[in-house]
Amino acid sequence: MAEETIFGKILSGEIPSQKVYSDAEFYAFRDVNPAAPTHILIVPRKPIPKVTDLTEADAALAGRMLLAANKIAEQEGLTEKGFRYVINCGEWGGQTVFHLHLHILGGRAMAWPPG
Ligand code: AMP
Repeated sequence: MAEETIFGKILSGEIPSQKVYSDAEFYAFRDVNPAAPTHILIVPRKPIPKVTDLTEADAALAGRMLLAANKIAEQEGLTEKGFRYVINCGEWGGQTVFHLHLHILGGRAMAWPPG
């Protein structure tokens, strides 16, 4: 079994979080160190370490993660002006927590390219 991460502990309730969305498959909460006025992380309950660990069997899960994120973006009032999704992968991608998560960043104009 994969080693439990801080997000595993958030999913089990061992570590508190500011819940934004929850369903049978995903949990979303506010990032503790926000990089934008709205910064939410959506995490599958299944502990997949990295986006490159997704398999064919996870194809529907990956699609539903985007659909759930879209619901959250709408709920947070981000869709009209726009917002950004980010998935960091591995060391050079800036991933620090090895439990797949999608960042939802909004509430200000985003620079491109990112740093
Ligand atoms: P990443 O660098 O893509 O792995 O993103 C990990 C994110 O998790 C960072 O933006 C952190 O600020 C955030 N984070 C770490 N610990 C917590 C926590 N206990 N509650 C909420 N967000 C967290």
